[in-house]
Amino acid sequence: MKEKVKSKKEKVKAKGNPSFAIGVDLGGTNLRIAAVDARGKLREKITTETRVARARDEVITEMCRAIQALATKQKKTGGKLAGVGVGVPGIIDLASGMLRASPNLPGWEDYPVREEIERRLGTRVLLENDANAAALGEKWLGAGRDANDLCMLTLGTGVGGGIILGGRIWHGMTGMAGEMGHINVEPEGPPCGCGSRGCLEQFASATAIERMARAAAAGGGAPALARVTAKRGFSSETVCRLAESGDPAAQEIFGQVGRALGIVVAALVNTFNLPMYVVGGGVAEAWDMFSPAMMEEVRRRSFVYVATSSHPAGGRTVIARAQLGSDAGLFGAARLAMQDRRG
Ligand SMILES: [Zn+2]
Repeated sequence: MKEKVKSKKEKVKAKGNPSFAIGVDLGGTNLRIAAVDARGKLREKITTETRVARARDEVITEMCRAIQALATKQKKTGGKLAGVGVGVPGIIDLASGMLRASPNLPGWEDYPVREEIERRLGTRVLLENDANAAALGEKWLGAGRDANDLCMLTLGTGVGGGIILGGRIWHGMTGMAGEMGHINVEPEGPPCGCGSRGCLEQFASATAIERMARAAAAGGGAPALARVTAKRGFSSETVCRLAESGDPAAQEIFGQVGRALGIVVAALVNTFNLPMYVVGGGVAEAWDMFSPAMMEEVRRRSFVYVATSSHPAGGRTVIARAQLGSDAGLFGAARLAMQDRRG
């Protein structure tokens, strides 16, 4: 009886003094910072422009100021800060906490980002690749809630990837695992920023969709694409709207997106035999346009998918659209800080 009373008291105490983590998503365009509690409830979110042209120090000063403001406010209501996680675009060296390469954040290479934020905040900070953070976010609160292991592809300006094993990001030796945007789908295809050719990123990113639309327009026989590509404000979303309206040339572009994705997803299914593969990022808004071709390709190329999807014992492989939209990385960064066991 005594024990029962005690546990009830503890529960009340935990409710009145919950822990929270700060998640940061530092993109090339936006800087977003959120306080998230242990159950994944968003307490508060701040969004500002990153404006890459601004000095690096200025961006870090603004980030630290916002983190401190959010943390102070949460602490006032009895919250306890569990940690700070920061998702950044680019290749991170986990040991040093430095960005090794980051096309979206020019001037940030080989700069001790993690150390500098830790110094200013006086607290430990976890730095993570944004696609890894997004994969962890989807595992925690999104499409992967019920799966312990998953692979996620993030289709944005480029194509990022994240691998979650046992509920945690799988980093590989130095933190570079999960670069699935650079799996080859066409050996002599268009040159890629990574130095190779014909990577998935050259077929399934927003940049690739825009390039393919321009090429189709220049090639003739695609009058609607020729019209929209000549206009200001043209983007991959324009191509998606055109495909949705039934334009065959725009639909063919999403057919190419789907086939390239299907080749890679099939390879991942055959390699990992995981229960779930998630596709997210801005381009995933066009899911209805590319997923039929993607699924057809997966079925054609993955014997593991075919076998596990029809397995009588319930070994079903799920290929799903992400659910958290642009907040996946923000939640993932906060989750990372909660999972932290270092130091
Ligand atoms: Zn590449």
